[in-house]
Amino acid sequence: MRRLKINDVRTILTAPDGIRLVIVKVVTNKPNLYGVGCATFTQRPLAVATAVEEYLKPFLIGKDPDQIEDIFQSSLVSSYWRNGPVLNNALSGVDMALWDIKGKRADMPVYQLLGGKCRHAAALYAHASGHNFEEVTNNVRNYIEDGYHYVRAQIAISGYSTYGVRGKSRGRRTQQPISSGQRHTFEPTAYVNTVLQLFDHLRTELGYDIELLHDVHERIPPIQAITLAKGLEKYRLFFLEDPFAPEDIEYFRILRHQTSIPIAMGELFSNPNEYLPLIKDRLIDFIRVHLSQIGGLSMGRKLAAMCEFFGVRTAWHGPGDVSPVGHAANLALDLACHNFGIQEQHKFKEATRRVFLGCPEIRDGYLWPNDTPGLGIDIDEKLAAKFPFPKDPLGGGWEPIRKPDGTVIRP
Ligand code: MG
Repeated sequence: MRRLKINDVRTILTAPDGIRLVIVKVVTNKPNLYGVGCATFTQRPLAVATAVEEYLKPFLIGKDPDQIEDIFQSSLVSSYWRNGPVLNNALSGVDMALWDIKGKRADMPVYQLLGGKCRHAAALYAHASGHNFEEVTNNVRNYIEDGYHYVRAQIAISGYSTYGVRGKSRGRRTQQPISSGQRHTFEPTAYVNTVLQLFDHLRTELGYDIELLHDVHERIPPIQAITLAKGLEKYRLFFLEDPFAPEDIEYFRILRHQTSIPIAMGELFSNPNEYLPLIKDRLIDFIRVHLSQIGGLSMGRKLAAMCEFFGVRTAWHGPGDVSPVGHAANLALDLACHNFGIQEQHKFKEATRRVFLGCPEIRDGYLWPNDTPGLGIDIDEKLAAKFPFPKDPLGGGWEPIRKPDGTVIRP
């Protein structure tokens, strides 16, 4: 029998919902045997495509796709400099595609290769937001009526560019930026005050049985994040996400001694040295990493196993800039890992669901697998080509958020 080998590695760039997605396709010499993986880094997608096409492709052609661990380890060190964004995204896409191939060869869904299901489906958290307390409350209530048990609540701060809220903030600008033409302005004190009032309102209106979450998105100075976390403790959140930036992780040690609020962290992490100290010292409760950033399923399954021993639960990053292929990889781990915590939901629009065949199904607040061998998802390349990246002078990069005096802050 002919030896199985990798014949081609390529990227598919598509944006059916207007979000730049990077998919890696690994093609073998066996007819119709290929795998797909998610390498999405939506702010720098072309850099990832270059890393795949110019560097990983020549390195991998002719190799045995069954040797996932060897390909992971040898690709990681072939650049010598490693474990940063871009190269890790490229490697993640290849790694997921290899797991997809192995599942197809075994005629099993990938979650079977990881040990099999320990739950029927993955509980989801939905995103509720609004421009005032009533709007946020009503949006949370709608999700409860739809069967959700976990809802993230975010609120617009009038006049400011606030994370996690759709549409423009209404109402009077509380503080004019001193430079005209400054578009995205944010002030941490108004945000902290409003979020504390929001959760008081939500608990008064909805009681304590619904699980509520909130994402700070590393926006505020660390000492203000501690004030916020302590103030929110009595509202019993399921978790508070990213109270600090990755550059400020030593603050978790300080925070942990002052409050028992559950903490989720990690969507920006690339290097294991960023998350290992937080896990081994039990300073966080949920790991939020982006599978398409840390090295794919191979790193995801090792990380989940390590977290299990330290009482840390998984909450893999799952917004719209994780492709449906990435969501399928998240779900494989959600089903197979005992220490699953929660899965972030993203409802892909019709166009994306036509490009990606076999998207996991969202039903009654849960994400359900389709049980097709491999990751259970494929891409219609011809249709994907009809959704090129949107024209944008920054190519997907974010414009800075600034304080009213013009100082750049974290996004
Ligand atoms: Mg987040």
